[in-house]
Amino acid sequence: MAIRDLLYFPDELLHQVSTPVTQFDESLAELVSDMFETMYHDEGIGLAAPQINIRKRVVVIDIEGDKLPEHQIVLINPEFLSKEGTDSINEGCLSVPGLRAHINRAEKVSIKAQNLKGDFFTLDASGLLAICIQHEIDHLDGHLFIDYLSPMKRNLYRTKAAKLARERKRALKEAQETNQ
Ligand SMILES: [Zn+2]
Repeated sequence: MAIRDLLYFPDELLHQVSTPVTQFDESLAELVSDMFETMYHDEGIGLAAPQINIRKRVVVIDIEGDKLPEHQIVLINPEFLSKEGTDSINEGCLSVPGLRAHINRAEKVSIKAQNLKGDFFTLDASGLLAICIQHEIDHLDGHLFIDYLSPMKRNLYRTKAAKLARERKRALKEAQETNQ
């Protein structure tokens, strides 16, 4: 298991569409395990593979954040079957640190997806889980929640994102120097 590096806004790679998974093998299981570890490390409740620079349609979710296997949801090649109602929460994203915003989402969703073995299943969700699923499937289609905001708000965040990127770089450099 390993913590993978995240991609951050405004990296254009986050805007690419991910391809369906066709091989349900050991390397897929390893990817999912790394995704959970990366998500927990950064205290997220969901993570999509393109956020760690893997453009495959793979999502992990744990809205409880307690690492219990019964709370861990793995969605391979997820697709919406239906959406109903409207809802919004103050959303955040590991790839867009330091920003939260209300986005209009469906209140209830029904999806189909495959598990690690390739078996199909359906899932009905509402509330936080439904919003999380919509946020993560957006990632697979190359959409970030910040894309829904006004150009002015997005530009304001660009300045903050650049500052955060400099801080990450500095922290990484310091960590490397300490390790020498
Ligand atoms: Zn996100």
